[in-house]
Amino acid sequence: MSFFDPSLIEEAKHRVDILSYIENATCTKAKKVGKQYFINPCPFCGRRDHFVIRPDERYFKSFSCDHKGDIINFMEQYENLSTADAI
Ligand SMILES: [Zn+2]
Repeated sequence: MSFFDPSLIEEAKHRVDILSYIENATCTKAKKVGKQYFINPCPFCGRRDHFVIRPDERYFKSFSCDHKGDIINFMEQYENLSTADAI
């Protein structure tokens, strides 16, 4: 069971701009290709051209090192926060 109201979590995800959050967290300017924004190098494995952010869908995804999710998952995976701290 969650300690947090799921609707508050959804609202938080909608309020945070995942693109600028990840740009700031990684000190990287994303490159726009269609609806996707590439972050190079990948903040997780350091390789190039496979880490994308979809701000319209509010998720990020890596095509080769298998990191993906929403803003809260990014904070957990990149900043090693617990789910509670990320929220
Ligand atoms: Zn990677």
